[in-house]
Amino acid sequence: MSLPAPFLQTLEGVVGFNKAAFEAVHSSGETVTAIRVNPNKNPDQILFEHTSPVPWCPHGQYLNARPSFTLDPNFHAGAYYVQDASSMFLWEALTQVVGDSDGLKVLDLCAAPGGKSTLLSSYFENGLVVSNEVIKQRAAVLVENTSKWGAHNMVVTNNDPSHFQSLPQFFDVMVVDAPCSGSGLFRKDPSAIEGWSLDLVALCAQRQQRILADALPALALGGTLIYATCSYDPNEDEHIADWLVNEMGLTPQAIDINNYPGIVESIAPISKAPGYRFYPDQIRGEGFFIAAFKKEKEVGTALTSFKSKEAVLEKLTKKMQEQVAEVLPANDTIATFLQSGMIKAIPAVFESSILQLASQLYIKKAGVSVGELKGKDFIPAHEYALSYLPLDIFNKVDLDKEQALSYLRRADFNCSGEKGWNLMRYNGLGLGWAKILPNRTNNYYPQEWRILKA
Ligand code: SAM
Repeated sequence: MSLPAPFLQTLEGVVGFNKAAFEAVHSSGETVTAIRVNPNKNPDQILFEHTSPVPWCPHGQYLNARPSFTLDPNFHAGAYYVQDASSMFLWEALTQVVGDSDGLKVLDLCAAPGGKSTLLSSYFENGLVVSNEVIKQRAAVLVENTSKWGAHNMVVTNNDPSHFQSLPQFFDVMVVDAPCSGSGLFRKDPSAIEGWSLDLVALCAQRQQRILADALPALALGGTLIYATCSYDPNEDEHIADWLVNEMGLTPQAIDINNYPGIVESIAPISKAPGYRFYPDQIRGEGFFIAAFKKEKEVGTALTSFKSKEAVLEKLTKKMQEQVAEVLPANDTIATFLQSGMIKAIPAVFESSILQLASQLYIKKAGVSVGELKGKDFIPAHEYALSYLPLDIFNKVDLDKEQALSYLRRADFNCSGEKGWNLMRYNGLGLGWAKILPNRTNNYYPQEWRILKA
């Protein structure tokens, strides 16, 4: 792979850049594959042979080859997420800069397809993660991936960053994994090289500032901002860090990397804010930049109000509550409400926060959809099958790999079990629902998620 000369020139003199090693690793054809295991879905099962740990994330594992994830039912069950290992450093950054995660409200502003968000939902397991994506089609992918992850502490929104100004100081932690010129992914995706230009870098840097300026009012005083890109360009990395400190009044936070040889600390030229650079010739992962900040003062921005609507989390009637108790055992930590006839389960402690979010934003998913009541019948929702809410009450069918793949292809499908709704499982993990009838089985795997690959 040959890297464009103007691109290599932009890296001359940048800390940690070693031209010969950098070019060699891009031409080597080497690939690095890593997964992050879902700590709530049988984390001790052996998913792949010959793995080695990603040093900075307890759930991260390097694989020694890239399997077909599409043809692995565990992947569809949300047992793991395929993620670049460098990005998993977010876990270590949170550990050092945020620490205790209980009860915190977190915004992942640029979230699709969901790599950082699923990590955040595991780190903040007793917090609330709002996972936002501005582009509608990408928000749909985010809903799919967060549904598979199964957590009920996630809300997916589809808003422009400026809309978050209607929620001043709402979030304790904000992650901005900004859209960027993408040079850090050149090794993995050489086609991205063609789209790179100096103009693109300049455009991205401008957009990064706008996104940050728009969203920062929603960060609480004392809150943490994590800024990340997959670009090597200082204009998108250290210069943005300078701007965050000098113009937005943030306080830089250092992360101790002594345990992680290969990660390079950089210092922003004006503010001296530390940032952390990942080069594929020096660590096992793709190009990445991350920096952390605290917000200790409010920099006066004229706030725009997006839209305020009367949001109510429609309560379940007493009769409905009794019916729901049969399929979702009563639990003090989980609150339920109705949205357009769908029963939703959310963490009880965040009920009022979710109400506030619903009054300001376009909500694509709130907690876990449990199902609908149609007369005396309960129709389970797909998300419920993927969640890690207690599903003991349902009949289950344990599928082997071939059966699981047929189910995931939404093929005609036969299995024996109790009549009625059955949870289809693979390796003990829910994949979805099927309804067993006297002479056939109806496959309820969502049409739009089905596996198309032969
Ligand atoms: N955080 C994601 C993950 O770990 O899977 C990757 C995010 S990707 C680097 C950047 C995201 O920002 C994309 O999903 C893109 O659609 C979104 N984006 C593009 N333009 C944006 C804008 N103007 N404001 C906010 N987000 C934007």
